[in-house]
Amino acid sequence: MKKSILKADLLGFYEDEIEGVMDLPLPIKELLTKVNRKVCNFNREIGFIVIHYVGAVSSAYNNAIYFENVNLERSAHYFVDAKEIYRVVKDNDIAWHCGSKTGYKHEFCRNNNSIGVEMCCYKKANGELDVSPAVENRTIHLVKALMNFYKIPIQGVVRHFDVANKLCPAPFITDNNRWVTFKKRL
Ligand SMILES: [Zn+2]
Repeated sequence: MKKSILKADLLGFYEDEIEGVMDLPLPIKELLTKVNRKVCNFNREIGFIVIHYVGAVSSAYNNAIYFENVNLERSAHYFVDAKEIYRVVKDNDIAWHCGSKTGYKHEFCRNNNSIGVEMCCYKKANGELDVSPAVENRTIHLVKALMNFYKIPIQGVVRHFDVANKLCPAPFITDNNRWVTFKKRL
């Protein structure tokens, strides 16, 4: 059998490689999209992790199903909810989560050198969307694992807002302290 030329990723090895699957600190399920990504046949440079929020009430699984077959021209690698994490795009493939047609705020971070992590939302009593402490904690756990695995420094963890001028993840922009605290915990 031909050996894959691609390196290991967070969830283990590619294709025919079966040894060396990592013990992750939290279980990650996989339901890969067939369309909303660009497959990379080379080891891409991963220097950034971009944090998003879904912007609607939904579960990680619902999002995985939503992105699976229909070409929406957007995606992310991971969706985190309070109970589960789903990976929708393999780490080495390019997800479409922070591209901008109107220009970038960040000098270097783009879809082709980043991993996109989406936090699922719930609706507060006042109708605003928010990210629960459970989702935030699990996201921190996941981001730490990704930083560790891909040797991404703390400056490499950015909000969608820092890359392109999108109000995402909104609760971490309207309350900048929340973002500062999030980063301190990484
Ligand atoms: Zn976003």
